[in-house]
Amino acid sequence: MDSRDTICAVATGLGRTGIGIVRVSGKDAIKICDQVFEGKKKISEMPTYTAAFGNIVDVSADGKKEIIDETVALVMKGPHSYTTEDTVEFDCHGGPFLLGKVVDLLIRSGVRAAEPGEFTKRAYLGGRIDMTEAEAVMDIINAENDMALKSSLSQLRGGLKEKIEEIREKIIYNTAYIESALDDPENYSLDGFPERLDKELDGTLSEIENLLSTSEDGRLIKEGISTAIIGRPNAGKSSVLNMLLGEERAIVTNIEGTTRDTLEEYANLNGVTLRLIDTAGIRNTDDIVEKIGVDKAKENIESADLILFIVDGAVPLNDNDREIIKKIKENDKNVITLINKTDLDSVMDKEELRSLISFKEDNKILEISAKEGTGKDELSHLIRDMFFSGDIDYNSEIYITSKRHRQALYDAKNSLLKVKESIALSMSEDFFTTDLMAAYESLGLIIGVTLEDDLADKIFESFCMGK
Ligand code: GDP
Repeated sequence: MDSRDTICAVATGLGRTGIGIVRVSGKDAIKICDQVFEGKKKISEMPTYTAAFGNIVDVSADGKKEIIDETVALVMKGPHSYTTEDTVEFDCHGGPFLLGKVVDLLIRSGVRAAEPGEFTKRAYLGGRIDMTEAEAVMDIINAENDMALKSSLSQLRGGLKEKIEEIREKIIYNTAYIESALDDPENYSLDGFPERLDKELDGTLSEIENLLSTSEDGRLIKEGISTAIIGRPNAGKSSVLNMLLGEERAIVTNIEGTTRDTLEEYANLNGVTLRLIDTAGIRNTDDIVEKIGVDKAKENIESADLILFIVDGAVPLNDNDREIIKKIKENDKNVITLINKTDLDSVMDKEELRSLISFKEDNKILEISAKEGTGKDELSHLIRDMFFSGDIDYNSEIYITSKRHRQALYDAKNSLLKVKESIALSMSEDFFTTDLMAAYESLGLIIGVTLEDDLADKIFESFCMGK
């Protein structure tokens, strides 16, 4: 731990905020912070988890003092801190220029500017959290909605870690048993072992399957359901968009992995997040192509998980609507048709619409009035039923939300399937261990432990070899 240097960074947002926190962590954190802080107490004399008021002061070589800011210093001594190291946080006024000056002073005093995520990396290296928990911290920070937040919090509390450890425990037990039996056949028998192992693997595989099956829900929770609102001009797309965005208006985010300048809007519908595609296109109807509505619909249908097809209930269906339905039919997507403007007299032929849209059994039709804001709750229930299997309880359930975890689970599953294959082919037991260990290692990647860390320990710890 001592080999780690002392780092600092502004821990709060970089805008103009009421308070800005500069965080310092590492073996010299207290000593260096003492050099820049003048308060009633010296930081080195403060008990852990206490705060003191004072100034951040830049003392030049010729002894001249410049007060940079008033501050409250908070001291958290290792190992009982986030990073497990000695940590000092300065609560400063929240201006980017000022905070930059504080960081600059600290750097001149001997700390290093932290890299992104370095505080959390130290928490991991210090053994305070495992890899799933570290990733959960990032997810919590990035959470766009309540569900994503709750599932990340559950991961942070170690839910996923415990599950993975449980599965690994079983795998390592069997590996160790094989090793022991090969080593010491007098005391450990392999009679009937392959059959037992085969059965046990079925159980383990189904646990992995269960985790994998949450990953689609996990993705939708984390990223939101990508949703295209389509329909002919004047059907009410823009009004529906506004209804969906409601009070919690337009969170505009730059999503990683999409075209750099793509702006997305999110709607939060009773906890379900919709990531709305091409909201600019819906608002801006000056475009000739958009006025027809069909070409735009085609493009957006392709990139959506969910299509909200808006039909104007106050006018008859026209070829434009029929053309759009054709486009929908060409893609196998979840579709909810919203008959809009139910506050006006109904003119549209609902039977015709129903027969046009019923090419897929799951396609649902709902009547709404974007103007009066009716139908929003029914819509959110329909979406939940369509996308999430069963009841969702984010406090207790584990959801796989990371691609990295998904990949590791797939790899583990494949390795275990290979073991089953070897059993079926009556191969000798030492063939099993290679694939068992590969699965063990893949799962270890999820929680960030390497094979070397614990294979030997586990084998010799959990088995009293008696020699
Ligand atoms: P878009 O072209 O599909 O985006 O349609 P807009 O949302 O711009 O709506 C077209 C027109 O229909 C506007 O004048 C809206 O005020 C009106 N409109 C939209 N939804 C409703 C509704 O539920 N009821 C009524 N009476 N008018 C609506």
